[in-house]
Amino acid sequence: MNFALTEEQEFFRTAVADTVDRMIMPQVETIDETDEFPWELWKEFTSLGYLGLRYPEEFGGMDADPVTCMIFYEELSRGSVGFAQAVIMNILMGTYFLYRFGSPAIKERCFLPALRGEKIATMCFTEDQSGSDLAATATTARKVDGGWILNGTKNWITNGPIADFATVVATTDPALGMKGLNFFLVEKGTAGFSHGQILHKVGARGPVTGELVLEDVFVPEENLLGEELGKGGAYLGEILDEVRCMTGAMALGIARTAFADGLEYARKREAFGKPIGTYQLIRAKFADMATEMEASRLLVYQGAWRLGEGLPTRKVAAMAKMFATETCLKVVDEVTRIYGANGFAQEYGPQRYFRDARFLLYGGGTHEILKNFLGREIVSGR
Ligand SMILES: Cc1cc2nc3c(=O)[nH]c(=O)nc-3n(C[C@H](O)[C@H](O)[C@H](O)COP(=O)(O)OP(=O)(O)OC[C@H]3O[C@@H](n4cnc5c(N)ncnc54)[C@H](O)[C@@H]3O)c2cc1C
Repeated sequence: MNFALTEEQEFFRTAVADTVDRMIMPQVETIDETDEFPWELWKEFTSLGYLGLRYPEEFGGMDADPVTCMIFYEELSRGSVGFAQAVIMNILMGTYFLYRFGSPAIKERCFLPALRGEKIATMCFTEDQSGSDLAATATTARKVDGGWILNGTKNWITNGPIADFATVVATTDPALGMKGLNFFLVEKGTAGFSHGQILHKVGARGPVTGELVLEDVFVPEENLLGEELGKGGAYLGEILDEVRCMTGAMALGIARTAFADGLEYARKREAFGKPIGTYQLIRAKFADMATEMEASRLLVYQGAWRLGEGLPTRKVAAMAKMFATETCLKVVDEVTRIYGANGFAQEYGPQRYFRDARFLLYGGGTHEILKNFLGREIVSGR
């Protein structure tokens, strides 16, 4: 077994980490406080070419292996998880189905500009009555001459209100459940396509998150992203493990920042005449946090390595997402305790890590859904 990163991967980590420290870190608090999309940072950061991270060089991408992608997601989230959300949407969920099924014209119009940061992408599954339960999708796609008519409302859409285009999940027949799902490209400016309510998030702030409304939206035939009708669920499966490992990598990033901050505080803060970091109970927190972060790292990067090797990854990816997120939640909680009352003050970092980390609970499957899946697989011997 070899757990070492390659020289290239190590080099990549250093380069991304330097960029994050220099470009993103100084803006983290402003992004959180204003909860406004950081357009200037977006322009500066996306000009570096990272948005093509996982795509082939023929599209101007970096053709990075999954381990390298996780390094990027982890380092970026170590900076601002809100900004990371927006960036990763363009890298993965918001562009994958255009890459996979988009016509040359769609690639030219939407996919390539998204990789250059000139267009903002998003992905729309969630509706008021269907979050975990995708089969309950109520947004409909009705076949008409030359294309499709879409109707429905999506909610909780990252960058939805500012997106230039969206991959929208819609059903051809709600009675078909998962077998009725398909992906459609809908571009900003299409008649009947608008945004509704904007949500005020507790954490992971920066991206504009809210509703997208489709009222008799006509899209041409080529905007159906998929080769076969009713295969939306299967197509989603192509990136599900990557999305779960990615969320685990984001969890690691947030945990690392919180851990480093807590460590610095514990070394400096004195109580009863000694730094609190000299007390056994505080040291035990660091021992537990470091151990669980290391275990998270092994799961996330094992998942990524398996993806790269083309090995089955579904179980380990679910474990990685769940374990790394739960670890992150534990770490951010412990760091607020180490900070004492200061952990309860807006003036210090821990409250932000605490709020940001909650975001990891939802995307890629809630932990109840992941446990249902893992339990089913394990008990049935798969
Ligand atoms: C910051 C943020 C950004 C987001 N961005 C996007 C986006 O860009 N695009 C998008 O489509 N969505 C997005 N989402 C939505 C996200 O994908 C959903 O929140 C997620 O799918 C869970 O759905 P839900 O919130 O409706 O919870 P529900 O599915 O309603 O679940 C509620 C609770 O019930 C539990 N539960 C549900 N079913 C079961 C079961 N069978 N057994 C046991 N427990 C169960 C869940 O685990 C959860 O605890 C975002 C969410 C957040 C917070």
